[in-house]
Amino acid sequence: MQYEIIPVTGFQQNCTLLWCDRTKDAAVIDPGGDLEKILTRVSDLNLKLTQIWLTHGHIDHAGATGELAAKLSLPIIGPHKDDEFWIDGLAQQSQMFGFPSAQPFKPTRWLNDGDNVELGDECFQVLHCPGHTPGHVVFFHEKSRLAQVGDVLFQGSIGRTDFPKGNHEDLIHSIREKLFPLGDDIQFIPGHGPMSTFGQERKSNPFCSDPNFG
Ligand SMILES: [Zn+2]
Ligand SMILES: [Zn+2]
Repeated sequence: MQYEIIPVTGFQQNCTLLWCDRTKDAAVIDPGGDLEKILTRVSDLNLKLTQIWLTHGHIDHAGATGELAAKLSLPIIGPHKDDEFWIDGLAQQSQMFGFPSAQPFKPTRWLNDGDNVELGDECFQVLHCPGHTPGHVVFFHEKSRLAQVGDVLFQGSIGRTDFPKGNHEDLIHSIREKLFPLGDDIQFIPGHGPMSTFGQERKSNPFCSDPNFG
């Protein structure tokens, strides 16, 4: 399994291409915008884009999903159904944040905690991590010790919880009870900013560190 991060939109959202080395099947996580930039990388890397995966329904993560799915006839996998109101409200979100108008869409498959998603020979686990949004999911590839966590956790920070149906306690619970137990060595790609590890955040993140670390 390999990956490449492609920051998109004015929010520099970490859209991520993941692919299976053997089959070259690729998934794009969170195509929030800048489709040409994403598709250029897909063709430069000689990949076969077969799926769209969504961590949650915010415009900077999901904005170009409808257009991309229609253009290449791709299935849309995720997020959890509790984010349906965000996806149905993408038109309002694009106005509010000054994004190009988003083509509406319905996910092909809603995800639940404990689900698996397959990509070529590779398998990813789905963790439902509410708090930033109620239907936020995380994709975890155990074999390469890598997680794509969207806006749940950042290097030195955590996701906002002041949006409708956001919940700070849920978010802290998601981070401490679902992500950190995966292991200190796990590298993660956050929705924005640089990568880090769960161990690093468990040790020093001012919002969610573990006082008993070490
Ligand atoms: Zn978000
Ligand atoms: Zn975001």
